Amino acid sequence: MSPEKTTPQTETKEFQTEVKKMLDIVIHSLYTEKEIFLRELISNAADALEKFRHQSVVEQEVFDSHIPLEISIEFDDKANTLTITDTGIGMDRGELEANLGTIAHSGSKTFFTKLSETDRKEVNLIGQFGVGFYAAFMVAKKVTVKSRSFRMDDMGHEWISDGGGTFTIAMCPGIRRGTSIVLELTDEAKEYANEQTIRRIIKQYSSFVPFPIKLKGEAI
Ligand code: ADP
Ligand code: MG
Repeated sequence: MSPEKTTPQTETKEFQTEVKKMLDIVIHSLYTEKEIFLRELISNAADALEKFRHQSVVEQEVFDSHIPLEISIEFDDKANTLTITDTGIGMDRGELEANLGTIAHSGSKTFFTKLSETDRKEVNLIGQFGVGFYAAFMVAKKVTVKSRSFRMDDMGHEWISDGGGTFTIAMCPGIRRGTSIVLELTDEAKEYANEQTIRRIIKQYSSFVPFPIKLKGEAI
């Protein structure tokens, strides 16, 4: 029997202690250039696409082999949401838990190491080292990550957190390969559900990303 069938539908898990500290800094920091969250998420999407490209050469069979390698951005200024989707390598249940629940293997580790070396200079450090995926919580009150690995035996999963101490993971069948990150923006971050703002940020920070970026279905 696969682990999917023995684990409950929705599991609630605690973030690693370092992640909790990191989220606390990210959410409460006075760091003003919050727009870098988009650079971080696009950079992760590009990494995932690059990893997929490599795996598709190495593996005999990959899920959704025919879909184009690209990044899509959608927004809804009524619902205050921003969604970043890639058709990259994706994450299975264990990878969602490990990659988004700990900082063991991520670039955030540098941030955290520097933070313990210096003393309460966290505002500058966010700009200097970036906080990777967790930057999403600078602008979002809730983050939903839907992901489906390139491996044939995976099924989709959904990771949800409000940046407090915990996150949930549940099955999410029927989705395509890759990762979709839905940000429910805070009232202060409403401006990021706006086409002009999104365009400007992408031009400013992500112009050398080696995959197509589409905004509401159209190439940027
Ligand atoms: P870094 O990119 O420096 O590793 P992040 O905090 O930005 O650190 O991301 C943590 C990890 O989460 C990544 O290393 C990757 O394994 C995983 N991840 C994040 N976003 C995606 C994505 N869009 N697709 C696949 N994996 C992702
Ligand atoms: Mg990253």
